[in-house]
Amino acid sequence: MTGRFTFLGSGTSRGVPMMCCDCEVCRSTDPRDHHERSSGLVEVGPTKLLIDCGPDLRHQCLNFHVTRLDAVLLTHAHIDHVDGLDDLQAITQFSRTALPFYASPATLAIVHERYRYVDELKYQADGTPRWSIPQLDYREATGPFSVAGLKVTPLPLKHGRATTLGYRIGGMAYVCDCSAIPEETYPLLEGVTDLVIDALRWRRHPTHFSIFEAEEAVRRICPQRAWFTHLCHDVLYARDQPLMQPGNTLAYDGLNFDFPI
Ligand SMILES: [Zn+2]
Ligand SMILES: [Zn+2]
Ligand SMILES: [Zn+2]
Repeated sequence: MTGRFTFLGSGTSRGVPMMCCDCEVCRSTDPRDHHERSSGLVEVGPTKLLIDCGPDLRHQCLNFHVTRLDAVLLTHAHIDHVDGLDDLQAITQFSRTALPFYASPATLAIVHERYRYVDELKYQADGTPRWSIPQLDYREATGPFSVAGLKVTPLPLKHGRATTLGYRIGGMAYVCDCSAIPEETYPLLEGVTDLVIDALRWRRHPTHFSIFEAEEAVRRICPQRAWFTHLCHDVLYARDQPLMQPGNTLAYDGLNFDFPI
């Protein structure tokens, strides 16, 4: 069986083009230089999992015809990954079911605090769900879990001083917003065929892998293919893709690949 991964967004927190910037990349008309906030769709048969729900979620769902989901997997609570949460309302109103929403306990605590109305307004006075707000079924991702029979393994990662979760599904691992992979996470990445990995830009950054650092991690993990995401406006596809190591690809919105389950 195979799964398909689609980059709904492949950009850093401000997206590319960036507002108020007229650099060469932000002015590029090459669609491979357009990066909405990072997000991925995993499809295995009829099962659809969304990784992160950033501020571009509405546009991404319209663009890629996402009308139903089996679960959301949240990496962390930075605004560029979670601030489209309210737009999940359309999904749950349409499906008339609560949407499983996985994150680490620490991330869920932030989500509860920031989107308090989702908890407070969950039910109407008669006890029925209020479909005008997102109906989310929050679940702690503290170890492997299953969504519609599909095994999902959370991958603890360092993101500067913060901790984030990557996710592994079959041969695919999503390792985004990451400046270091803890030793104990490497065994969970054994045998990965397709590694989606954070790579902000060529220069170093305190909370994200540079392309060089991501390449180093790829050499250790040895996937068949690696897909570099969360890109900023320092990266120009036509100029920089030819500089990538064989098997490594700069992501862009809409790019997809198949991976073994
Ligand atoms: Zn981010
Ligand atoms: Zn720019
Ligand atoms: Zn982040």
